[in-house]
Amino acid sequence: MTAKVIDGKAFAATVREKVAGHVARLKEEHGITPGLAVVLVGEDPASQVYVRSKGKQTIEAGMNSYEYKLPAETTEDELLAVVEKLNNDPQVHGILVQLPLPNHMNSDLVINAIDPAKDVDGFHISNVGLLGTGQKSMVPCTPLGCLMMLRDHHGSLSGLNAVVVGRSNIVGKPMAQLLLGDSCTVTIAHSRTKNIQDIVRSADIVVAAVGRPEMVTGDWIKPGATVIDVGINRIDAGEGKTKLVGDCEYSSCAEVAGAITPVPGGVGPMTIACLLANTVTACCRANGLPEPK
Ligand code: NDP
Repeated sequence: MTAKVIDGKAFAATVREKVAGHVARLKEEHGITPGLAVVLVGEDPASQVYVRSKGKQTIEAGMNSYEYKLPAETTEDELLAVVEKLNNDPQVHGILVQLPLPNHMNSDLVINAIDPAKDVDGFHISNVGLLGTGQKSMVPCTPLGCLMMLRDHHGSLSGLNAVVVGRSNIVGKPMAQLLLGDSCTVTIAHSRTKNIQDIVRSADIVVAAVGRPEMVTGDWIKPGATVIDVGINRIDAGEGKTKLVGDCEYSSCAEVAGAITPVPGGVGPMTIACLLANTVTACCRANGLPEPK
């Protein structure tokens, strides 16, 4: 069997197109332009790349992009003052503080200082609680993108066995909540899980969010299962070159799986598309307008 490739790049383009349509209508019918503020502290090269591409795609969707690039030695109080200013700015509907923050800062404190209504990353404790109790919330972008691709591929996810490998607050835990919300039977595996291969092999849906290059191999996968590979790992490709690989070994998993997301071109592009979608949702909620579906 060769798996169907779930084309996250193409899917993300359709999501961005829909977002741009909503933005155009918000402008035309209500004179409102959604705005996303992204705050970057320090010079982490990967974060700089993400922030640049978030800004570019925000503008391409017709929204306002506000970038705050603060030096690594910024104090926590200074950062909190920026967050407070953005919380009070009616032009700003979404606020994203790029993680990781420098070590001298308490990320939880900073994230929980963001107005939950503007927390387009969905990491504020209020949004985490709302998601966990099945209430309307801001949903973290990466798991939301994974869910959209799974729904698109399967239609209903009800009753499917899902195994999420990884229990981070950013990906693994919210992913598990979303799958539970769609009536999957969910198992979360992590670094202390026993017989992890057997557990993964029981899954109709595998979501790998581990940060270990090509850890999940084809012999872990039940024939026909759907594999969503969240991992982004840069590895040595020889001759002084590097390449991006996921947490799943693509070639062996694709031989067994029914469907699989590639890396790059799978989950990654969906993450930013969902960030734009969340910003439009936040803008609609702030203005008492119907949310895009
Ligand atoms: P974290 O490092 O925060 O979490 C990794 C999780 O994997 C932990 O729960 C850890 O378990 C678990 N784990 C580590 N080693 C093993 C192992 N040998 N067996 C089983 N479980 C293990 O990572 P993130 O969740 O932030 O990210 C995961 C991956 O997804 C990374 O490659 C990251 O780059 C990528 N990513 C991609 C995004 C995208 O847009 N595509 C967005 C965000 C992340 P324990 O808790 O026990 O330590």
